[in-house]
Amino acid sequence: MIATDSSCPVCANNLDSATNADGSDHPPEEGDFSVCAYCASPLRFHRKSPKDGLRLRLVSDADMSDLDRETKIALAQAITYLKANPPPK
Ligand SMILES: [Zn+2]
Repeated sequence: MIATDSSCPVCANNLDSATNADGSDHPPEEGDFSVCAYCASPLRFHRKSPKDGLRLRLVSDADMSDLDRETKIALAQAITYLKANPPPK
């Protein structure tokens, strides 16, 4: 788990950590994709300006067209998993 400082733009839950789908420990970077652990919304890390911290925004149709097939499948699998296994409240 890696500390982050973002909240979900859809459900507003604080997402203060992230786990890499590939099991590595590199911190999230601008442009990386994520999925909210609470509402399973597809998200993407971005910065409003270079000096701002990373924030999360909802993935757009344009973002999806950037993705290769394998990443689209991995994102869909993460969403399916999190919808079936929401965190305890
Ligand atoms: Zn959410």
